[in-house]
Amino acid sequence: MTLSRQEILDEMGLSPQWVWREQPTVARQSSSTPPPETPQTPAIAPVVVPQPAPVAPVLANVEQVGWEELRQTIRECRACGLCAGRKQVVPGVGDENADWLFIGEGPGAEEDARGEPFVGQAGKLLDAMLAAIDLQRSADVYIANAVKCRPPGNRTPEAGEVAACRPYLQRQIELLQPKLIVLLGRAAVQAVLGLDVSLASLRGKTLAYPHGAEEIPLIVTYHPAYLLRNLPDKAKAWEDLCRARAEMLRLRQG
Ligand code: URA
Repeated sequence: MTLSRQEILDEMGLSPQWVWREQPTVARQSSSTPPPETPQTPAIAPVVVPQPAPVAPVLANVEQVGWEELRQTIRECRACGLCAGRKQVVPGVGDENADWLFIGEGPGAEEDARGEPFVGQAGKLLDAMLAAIDLQRSADVYIANAVKCRPPGNRTPEAGEVAACRPYLQRQIELLQPKLIVLLGRAAVQAVLGLDVSLASLRGKTLAYPHGAEEIPLIVTYHPAYLLRNLPDKAKAWEDLCRARAEMLRLRQG
């Protein structure tokens, strides 16, 4: 079933406050008189954040493997206690040439059963969030998690578990070389930026993930599972998505 944009915004609980404009441009976003119905996107000024200290990779050459070998290595991983309770590992899903990388926390029960990230209730909301900015999980988007195995009882992954899985996430970023990274929630922030801080302190700006001699722009927003419990914050997530979309337009315009 294909949802209309209005139905998507309704689904996200964003109507009637937010109405998506057709073909927004960076110039229009920085206009001094934005259309009243659109959340105003602050000027984009990347803030460089330090990368976490490297941890010993589980596989000596994990930083050299390709996609298939990486998936196989993750499937066989026993680097932390989460492997004991998993049905399946959940390495990631999507287009391996995607410009967009979305990173969540870790698999829940449904993801553990299917081996694919974000297929439960939070996944339905993530799909609606993607659709609201004209994206779908099968095209130009890759979705990964901070940890690749389900934490028991869907608890938040511990710092040691996130650290054990980090080399895999870092390799996914290197292989994908996305134009833009969107972090969904605190565990993703901890995994990618090594920061244990509130989301509020990182939202509303474009950060930069150091990547060799370059930087990948990075935007932080709420996790869909959090948004399902905190409906008023959907409007803030919509602002973040608008920022992400504007940033991607800017990157593509060079
Ligand atoms: N929440 C996540 O962070 N990731 C999933 O894959 C599912 C739910």
